[in-house]
Amino acid sequence: HLAAFQSPSHLFSTSLIHAEVEESYIMIKPDGVQRGLVGEIISRFEKKGFKLKGLKLFQCPKDLAEEHYKDLSSKPFFPKLISYITSGPVVCMAWEGVGVVASARKLIGATNPLQAEPGTIRGDLAVQTGRNVVHGSDSPENGTREIALWFKEGELTEWTPVQTPWLVE
Ligand code: ADP
Repeated sequence: HLAAFQSPSHLFSTSLIHAEVEESYIMIKPDGVQRGLVGEIISRFEKKGFKLKGLKLFQCPKDLAEEHYKDLSSKPFFPKLISYITSGPVVCMAWEGVGVVASARKLIGATNPLQAEPGTIRGDLAVQTGRNVVHGSDSPENGTREIALWFKEGELTEWTPVQTPWLVE
């Protein structure tokens, strides 16, 4: 079916591809940045085949960290969590793809890195829940909500990776 690859616009316009496209907000937390893991972590999502549409290094203000984690505001660890997330720059990313939300959660691994499977980011690169190097949205709705929270208008880029027809039939 190589002939089909000469007509990418036909491939990209199929309803199958667009119907299931989701977006996930992935963030490398301050420990991941300080430990020099930025390239390693980005590369796992890149190699899997998802599309990066937003990326920035950013010092998170306290009010944004509190808004992002508002569902956890009653937890005893909440103040420590906010001070952790604001302790240094984070890398904010918007990733897009079919099933990206659940797949990214699998690539990231369990919240407690000691319980995260080897091969996952947390399983390979971290040891403590309070220093678990990366965030990933837990639902498609939260993916869209968090991307809108962390990125301003004009910071996201729509583009078509040349590899798309080699990833999705
Ligand atoms: P996840 O990031 O895997 O979705 P949660 O939404 O439960 O996990 O928690 C958000 C973040 O809060 C965790 O990634 C971790 O940084 C922090 N956190 C969760 N539980 C604890 C805890 N018991 N002690 C310290 N930090 C915690």
